Amino acid sequence: MRTGAKFLEGIKKRNYNIYHLGKKIENPTEYPMLKWPLKVVARIHDMALDPKHSDLLTATSPITGDKVNRFLHVFGSIDDLLIRQKKMRFLITHLGSCCLMCPGLGGVNALYSTTYDMDKELGTNYHQRFMDYIKYVQENDLFLAGAMMDVKGNRSQNAFEQADPDMYLHIVEERDDGIVVRGAKAHQTGPMIADEVVIMPCDIMRDPKAKDYAVSFAIPADTKGLTYIMQQNLADALTDTAEGTDGMDLGNVRYGCQFGATALMVFDDVFVPKERIFMQGEYKYTSNLITRMGTMARMWQTGCRPGIFDLITGATKLIAEYNGVAKAPHVIDKLTEMSFLTETVWGLALACASFGKPVSNGAYLPDPLLTNVAKLQSTRNYYELVKIAIDLCGGLLVSVPSEKDCKNPETGKWIDKYFRGVADVPTEHRLRVVRFIQSLTGGPVAAALHHSGGPMQNQKIVIYRETDFNKKTKRVKVLAGIEEEEF
Ligand SMILES: Cc1cc2nc3c(=O)[nH]c(=O)nc-3n(C[C@H](O)[C@H](O)[C@H](O)COP(=O)(O)OP(=O)(O)OC[C@H]3O[C@@H](n4cnc5c(N)ncnc54)[C@H](O)[C@@H]3O)c2cc1C
Repeated sequence: MRTGAKFLEGIKKRNYNIYHLGKKIENPTEYPMLKWPLKVVARIHDMALDPKHSDLLTATSPITGDKVNRFLHVFGSIDDLLIRQKKMRFLITHLGSCCLMCPGLGGVNALYSTTYDMDKELGTNYHQRFMDYIKYVQENDLFLAGAMMDVKGNRSQNAFEQADPDMYLHIVEERDDGIVVRGAKAHQTGPMIADEVVIMPCDIMRDPKAKDYAVSFAIPADTKGLTYIMQQNLADALTDTAEGTDGMDLGNVRYGCQFGATALMVFDDVFVPKERIFMQGEYKYTSNLITRMGTMARMWQTGCRPGIFDLITGATKLIAEYNGVAKAPHVIDKLTEMSFLTETVWGLALACASFGKPVSNGAYLPDPLLTNVAKLQSTRNYYELVKIAIDLCGGLLVSVPSEKDCKNPETGKWIDKYFRGVADVPTEHRLRVVRFIQSLTGGPVAAALHHSGGPMQNQKIVIYRETDFNKKTKRVKVLAGIEEEEF
């Protein structure tokens, strides 16, 4: 396994094609907007090497026989699923920022079982290719990004019905030694600082006309023809403002506050060698691949959210203390509610892992119904927690001045005097906590938590599909005397 420094060394050697604010980024490891995500991934590598964290962050791989980072591990038991949940809550509360390595793990797990199914039923050799790949990845302890989400154009049309055929990634040429693909993946977490990108289709395809869109593969993240256009949102603008300061305006001064360092990933006729292709036209298997990826992603987001809720709750408790209202009955009630909202999601997070089942070739998947209930509940509860945090924080959440104004002697003295809460807490501490709450309660963070893993309607669709309504109506019919009891 690599240290964080080795991970960064590897990234330095790569030749990515990244754009941000109208310019090409020549040295990603020196670029301010990439500083935080790189620091997070490097820190996770270092933590995985620390014996204190090895139970949560490492596993013995049945593929290599060696210890590997759990971000590259195939879940082989309910215990693996539960550890994954505990690891998420632990990592998020430790870092206060997105781990970035989850989508790649989803790809590893979904492809492991789906390639196995395909080979068994179709006589293809995708699974062996995939096993060779995952062995290489585990042995070199690589950071994988996982890309499913196409740009999708008109959402009411299939991939093959779009006015522009490139709205979904697709094969444009088949050669003896590989394929050429064109299209774009949207909102991708961290591929511009990853070693490899694992690509999967984003829609379940049932029509043979979708064949060219049923494509999955993995390539180095700096492969020729790949372009990354990085995000720029309000949180990023704050990162800009905070350049050259202690980072107080970001709230999280240790790891920044990025919930998805994302990019649009453009594939401009990218060549994929044969040995890296894991699906090439088998559209009927997009269902297995996407459902498994989606279920896993939703499961661990429910492990992640309670960690975020812990931080929002901790910061809200602090601001209540700094404002001198911590003992007021309505504040105690609201803080209790925050804990209730958090632990409700945590209970569901553990439940969906506990009721996991083997899916194929020894790989485990969490319970789909409970997973989707958990994810939906986590999104709802986030907004409830945000309401309370905003309520108790007060208007300073909007009007907080910048660190530069706090440090300017002309203005700093007034800020220090007039933005003090209780007398024995420095004003600066109060403002730091306000910034911390600000960073976790709105704008891009809310959208990131809402949409990553799919919007709420996606979970409702699965909840309806997975609910055994017949079983429920049957019992009513028996108990109401409409049908006879069956023994
Ligand atoms: C921070 C962040 C990180 C992410 N990281 C990754 C990543 O690493 N890898 C990855 O693959 N993806 C990633 N995603 C993508 C994420 O999965 C999508 O954003 C999400 O699934 C929603 O897709 P969309 O953004 O295209 O929104 P849309 O699909 O356009 O959804 C917008 C609304 O339209 C509705 N809608 C969509 N289609 C239909 C339809 N046909 N009929 C009726 N209603 C419809 C939805 O329910 C929703 O209410 C990330 C997203 C975010 C925000």
